[in-house]
Amino acid sequence: MNDIIQPVHFEHHSTNFNRLKGRLEHMVGKAIADFNMIEEGDVVMVCLSGGKDSYTLLDILRTLQKRAPVDFKLIAMNLDQKQPGFPADVLPNYLKSIGVDFHIETQDTYSIVKEKIPEGKTTCSLCSRLRRGIIYKVAGELGANKIALGHHRDDMVETLFLNMFFGGKLKAMPPKLVTDKGDHIVIRPLAYCAEKDIARYARGMEFPIIPCNLCGSQENLQRQNIKQMLHEWERQYPGRSQTIFTAMQNVKPSHLLDTSLFDFRNIQLGAAVDEGDVAFDQEI
Ligand code: SF4
Repeated sequence: MNDIIQPVHFEHHSTNFNRLKGRLEHMVGKAIADFNMIEEGDVVMVCLSGGKDSYTLLDILRTLQKRAPVDFKLIAMNLDQKQPGFPADVLPNYLKSIGVDFHIETQDTYSIVKEKIPEGKTTCSLCSRLRRGIIYKVAGELGANKIALGHHRDDMVETLFLNMFFGGKLKAMPPKLVTDKGDHIVIRPLAYCAEKDIARYARGMEFPIIPCNLCGSQENLQRQNIKQMLHEWERQYPGRSQTIFTAMQNVKPSHLLDTSLFDFRNIQLGAAVDEGDVAFDQEI
């Protein structure tokens, strides 16, 4: 219990904080509208880890629910993976205090992961696979057709570089996708929100944050390196992460080299494509 990070009380009622709150609500509302994430009658299961992102997600969704043009239901869900020291009463107490429907699923994936993965090896990939399976099963049991996750803009940009540097693929993390069996739609309503805004909001709201290193595993080292690279870029060139994110929404298949996305073979004289030979210019 003494592992809980104590909230820092600051700027709760300040104009700046209200502006930040307004910005986050606007960004979440825009993402929901742009990708048609939530529709009339949806039952949305919001996955809560106890980290700043998922608390913020639930909080903003609850605010937007009150003024949304469509009627939908929210159920908060936490998976207690039985990591040593996990303070099992923190989330139920918080969820009761705000009066939201919730479900706590207890499954000891920690022991499975410890048993299967040799000491010193990273456990995150098996752990996430197990967690994903449980989340889908619980969504089915709760009658939820949508599953909301707390990934944000910076997670998406990091994933883009991870896939590029280590997977040789130009792909990031979708704001909305259908699960493999086709039973649920996963949505990421924080897609347009910057991590630093979420962190500030979570501090201001004094969410009872549960530290994310209870399992003792190092978060994927490659992701950490990418995060550091992006932070360094952001320091040198403020706004770079947002520019990269904007680029992810502005893709020109005719100016890449994927023959499955653009029919280069059948290019004909007289059929100029969007932004045509501007690509030959060195300067933007
Ligand atoms: S950090 Fe721990 S809890 Fe998180 S995915 Fe990795 S093994 Fe699982």
